[in-house]
This record gives sequence, structure tokens and C-alpha cells, in this order.
Amino acid sequence: MIQATGRTNRAASRSGSYIDRPMEQLPTTEALRGRVLAALRRCGVGIKLDESGDIAARTPITGGEIGRLVGHDAADVDDAVHRAAVAFAVWRTTPAPFRGELIRRLADTLRAHQDDLAEIVSIEAGKIRSEGLGEVQEMINVCDFASGLSRQLDGRTIASEHRGHRLMETWHPLGPCAVITPFDLPVAVWSWNTALAVICGDPVIWKPSERTPISALTCDALFAKVANEMGVPADLCQVILGGRNVGQVLVDHPGIPLVSATGSTAMGRIVAPRVAARFGRSILELGGNNAAIVTPSADLNRALPGIVSSATGTAGQRCTSLRRLIVHRSILDEMVSRLVTAYRSLSVGDPLQPGTLVGPLIDRGAYDAMVNALTAARTEGGDVIIGGDRVDNERPDGFYVHPTIVVVPSQTPVVAAETLAPILYVMPYDTFEEAIAIHNGVAQGLASSIYTTDMREAERFMSSAGSDCGIANVNLSPGRAEIGGAFGGEKETGGGREWGSDAWKAYMRRATNTINYSDE
Ligand code: NAD
Repeated sequence: MIQATGRTNRAASRSGSYIDRPMEQLPTTEALRGRVLAALRRCGVGIKLDESGDIAARTPITGGEIGRLVGHDAADVDDAVHRAAVAFAVWRTTPAPFRGELIRRLADTLRAHQDDLAEIVSIEAGKIRSEGLGEVQEMINVCDFASGLSRQLDGRTIASEHRGHRLMETWHPLGPCAVITPFDLPVAVWSWNTALAVICGDPVIWKPSERTPISALTCDALFAKVANEMGVPADLCQVILGGRNVGQVLVDHPGIPLVSATGSTAMGRIVAPRVAARFGRSILELGGNNAAIVTPSADLNRALPGIVSSATGTAGQRCTSLRRLIVHRSILDEMVSRLVTAYRSLSVGDPLQPGTLVGPLIDRGAYDAMVNALTAARTEGGDVIIGGDRVDNERPDGFYVHPTIVVVPSQTPVVAAETLAPILYVMPYDTFEEAIAIHNGVAQGLASSIYTTDMREAERFMSSAGSDCGIANVNLSPGRAEIGGAFGGEKETGGGREWGSDAWKAYMRRATNTINYSDE
């Protein structure tokens, strides 16, 4: 019985076994490097993974280095902004449907190389194969959406208060956009921004995560191939490799009217005021701390798969990963027991092997953050029900962990932080109002969901007195988001919106036009 405090009878629900993949069967770093080079060859992309660069491209599968690449500096950023300005002069007057055709062809190229790009993403970010393929599929979907949208960049005509006047809004390209992206979605976030920016008439300068440079260079090369075939400006999309220093040069550059920054809230806290100080615009897609409420009427059979996969997929390192499960006290025991059974069937290990569901953490820093969070959770009265340990302590640089469930008594401090690891905090609630208060009681506001078959609870959750997140789902995991709807979050998640609905407006400037066609 799980007690009112949240503490559990450990004998009833002690750590169980997972289906660990044999660590001695992990591919070697050299073999992974070979697979990356082969995928690059199939893409027709000539990226040199030589030994002279200052950026190390690593794979979390072994922790080893698969190549070295040359990073950029402040002068390179300046040069890229200059080139983007030249490309902009041509691109802003190119008809939008033609711009959409470029993105349509990019989608076709991604379709043709979905396997190859997914392989590189899986090796560089440690995603299981289906997640790598899914990420590239998301890119294709965004491109399809944007290509159709290129024929619908419409403005409004508004009733004028004057006779013989027409009042209307027109939308115009903004200029070179900086796109800063995180490691957990090494290629998708670029496509969310680039597909829209390009159809809107804006060149893109991409500063990818320093942890996934090969994935970025591959996308850039595929884009360049399509751009070249269509004879469009070569510098429509450029990549700047490096860490936060070079990112900051881009952020501060007066030639960049829009900075779309996706990553941690800590990064956004630095980037946002710097862009604002020069009156630039920013789209901020920052950290999440996503929750799901499970009410007594929930269909647990249907809820369980979504809860487990969103809490453990990508080893809990996605912005939309489920981190907090708020469960009605009357079903807490049953929910935890079903979760434990499901967690025991998770296979952890080589993400490239078919059947694996949980791959490695990105690096030692991620592992340390997980250990620290679990130590804090225990100190605050949390009870680790299952998981929490490393699969193979002997392996120095590959960090494979067992997904973890911690029952916490209430809204304890540790649950307020986003820890990029597969930790699911389970919290009991008694009243619906309490569930909403717990749900909204964190600083982040990205994704959320409720599992219920009670229509009134579902509606209240989605109402203005319900979830305060940018995404509020019913009977789906928080991470489920379709391209057609705008994606993004509130509060410390930054308020930005990308991809669907009218998110394109952020990549354009609006002009209000009044025309006097009267004789007066
Ligand atoms: P991170 O903040 O460490 O890095 C993200 C990017 O920002 C990297 O390219 C990094 O080099 C750059 N950067 C860092 N400091 C900078 C600075 N001062 N100036 C300019 N650039 C700077 O994030 P991460 O660890 O790579 O990614 C994980 C984080 O991203 C999580 O918090 C996750 O929730 C978040 N994320 C959010 C979304 C979303 O849509 N809201 C999507 C994906 C990831």
C-alpha cells in the first residue's frame, strides 16, 4: 500500500529487472564512425571527419569520438551574416510559391535519405532507430506543411473609416534568422525554423548543438544540394559550428533581426535580454517540466503505453518528456504497480539494435544530473520504486541507466527542476483543483495532458482555469504534437511558437497599408 505521505512498502515494489542488452555487444566507436561515413556517402555528402578540427563529434553509444570538425569564430559569424544579407536581397523578392517549391524538394530529399540521416542522428544523439526515423519524418512533415503554406501567406483587408480608402495588412520577409538548436532534437528543430523562414523569404544561419555537429552538417549539405539544383542563392542556409561563445556572437549581431533559440531555460535567460537590448526579435523554445494528470475515470489500459513511452523515450531527454505524473490517490497503488510491470519490460542498451527502447544518456553530465536529482528526491522524502541505477558501471564513457519511478509526497522542490533523464515523479492528489495546482506549480509551461473519461474534467483541464501550458492534451501523452498546430510553451519555456497554425508570422514583418483611391 502506498501511504498518504507518498512513501511505499518497498517490499511490494522493489527494483525489478529490466531487459538489459549485453553491453559487451555494443558496437565499437570505430564501427560507428564507419557507419556514419557510409551514411554520409549514401547521402552524397562529403564531410571530412579528419583529426585536425577543434570540435569533437562523439557518440553517446560508446562515449567515443567519431571525428573532429573545424569550428567557427566571430569573424566567420560576421562573414556568414554578410553572405546571408546578399542572399536575402534575392530571396525576399522571389515569389513565395517558388520558395515553397525549394522546401517541397527538400522534403523529397529527406524522404530519399530518411534512413541515412536517422542513422547519423541515432549515432550522434543516442536515439533508438525508430526515434531517429521519427525525427526525420517530423522534418518531412514540417516541410510539406511549409510548402503548402507558401501559397497562403495572407494579410487581412480591414474596413476603412474613410470613403475611397483601402486598409490592409501585408507581410514581408524579415531578414537573416539565427537558429540555435539543442542536442535532443538535433535536426528537427532546424527544420521547424528553416522550412518556415525560407518560405517566408528569410535566409537562415544555424548554430546547432556542439554535441551533434555531423547531423547538422548533413542537413546543411542536403539543403545545399537542393538549392544548387534550383539555382537559388547558395547562402540561404549556413551552419556555424561551435559552442555558446560563437552562439553569442550571432545573438548579438545587428544583422540578425530574428533569433530563434531552442534549448535550456538557462540559455534563454542569457539570450533573450541580449536580443531585446538591440531591439531584435526572439522566438524562445526553452525547457519543459511536463506533467500528466490521471483521474479516477481514466482508462488505464490506454493511458499506460503513452505514459511509459513519454517518460522513458530518448532516455527522458526530450523537451516534451513526461516528468511528473499526478495521480488520484484512489488509483495510486494500481497505477504504480502497472508502471512497475511496464518498466520491467523495457529493454535498455544499444539504440541501434532492434527492440531496444531506451538508449544512453548523452554524456556524463546528464548522468551526474540524474544522480543528483535522485539524491535530492530521497532527501525530500521521495521513494525510488524502480530504477535509478546505471546499467554498466564498468563502462567509463557510455551512460546507460534504468528508467526510474519516484513516488514523492507532494510538490517537493526537486520536481520543480527539469532534469534531462528518465525520472518520473509520481504524486498523489485528492481534489481536481489540487491536481491543477500541482500541475501548474512549476516555472515551466511546455506540454501537459490529462487522462480522463469525464468530459467535465477534460474541458476544465483545457479551459483558461486549467493547464497553463502551450500544449494541453486529453488522453494523449504531453509530447504528442502535430505539425498543423503551433508548438511551444509558456512561462519559463519562453512563449515562442514554431511550425503550425500562424507561427509563420514570427518570421515576417507586418506592414499596414492605407490606399486613397478617392478624388479627395
Ligand atoms: P542548451 O541550452 O545547453 O544548448 C542549446 C543551444 O544553445 C546549443 O546550441 C548551445 O550551444 C546554445 N547556447 C548555449 N548558451 C548560449 C548562449 N549564451 N548564447 C548563444 N547560444 C547558446 O540545451 P541542450 O542541453 O542542448 O538541450 C536541452 C534543452 O533544450 C532542454 O532544456 C530542453 O527542454 C530544451 N528544448 C526545448 C524545446 C522546446 O521546443 N521548448 C525543444 C527541444 C529542447
